[in-house]
Amino acid sequence: MGNFEFKKKFGQNFLTDKNLLEKIVLEAGVTKDDTVVEIGAGKGALTEMLSKHAKKVYAFEIDSELFDYLAQKFAGSNVRLLFEDVTKVSDKWLNEIVGGKFKLVANLPYYITSPILTRFLKNPNLISLTVMVQEEVADRIIAKPKTKDYGVLTIMCGLFGSAQKVMNVNRKMFYPVPNVDSAVVKIDRFKTQTNLNEDFINFVKQAFSMRRKKLSSNILGKGISKEEIEQILVKMGYGESARAEELSIDDFKKLYTLICDKNIKIN
Ligand code: SAM
Repeated sequence: MGNFEFKKKFGQNFLTDKNLLEKIVLEAGVTKDDTVVEIGAGKGALTEMLSKHAKKVYAFEIDSELFDYLAQKFAGSNVRLLFEDVTKVSDKWLNEIVGGKFKLVANLPYYITSPILTRFLKNPNLISLTVMVQEEVADRIIAKPKTKDYGVLTIMCGLFGSAQKVMNVNRKMFYPVPNVDSAVVKIDRFKTQTNLNEDFINFVKQAFSMRRKKLSSNILGKGISKEEIEQILVKMGYGESARAEELSIDDFKKLYTLICDKNIKIN
């Protein structure tokens, strides 16, 4: 492993500080009853800490240069290495391999943060995810309405679980040192499944498509007029020229349901 070349394209910024690694695992609430999925084992620093605290760890890694090293390091342990590109495997495959509920804990490769969050939050076997992300992404995940960070990612995460930032992490904790600071966020997935689907997510994306425009202009095209949308917004307690960022997640759900049902009675 002496002359390992870090690959930017795989988002390789590794951690070594044992205190930090242990803190992440403790914040994730990992115990000997837990099965953990990790995305991106790297040189196995977080994997090793997870292995000490968890019952079983399934760790993905895409970089073939790391395979032999990892295989030797974790031979005979409770770590099962999955030498796969996580974006290429199906949820069905993953759920079969893991065989039940799991916690996701990872220092994520930043180039796939959003797709990973979106996808894993939808997986009914996920209990929680505790992930290192860029600080600005963490701020978007936990944002409150009426702030610049509040948007599709906030609503997407808030639809499936409750999110909190558990720590800030200075860029100097990584090697190589990235250009931005990071943070660890934890999202506990709600136990009850949301019945809202892709159409709702698309509706939210549409609502935020032009942030400075009125919400009623952004979401036209659902067989309802701009005036009708404005009437609904007013009945919900908003101004008729409300913008997407003003609506809480619950109000987004309410607005979507009302528009779909055209049942414009507001309690
Ligand atoms: N867990 C290690 C640590 O904390 O030091 C490494 C974290 S590093 C930020 C991200 C890791 O994810 C890298 O080892 C990278 O090769 C791996 N990776 C990147 N894209 C991946 C993918 N699509 N599937 C699986 N692993 C991936």
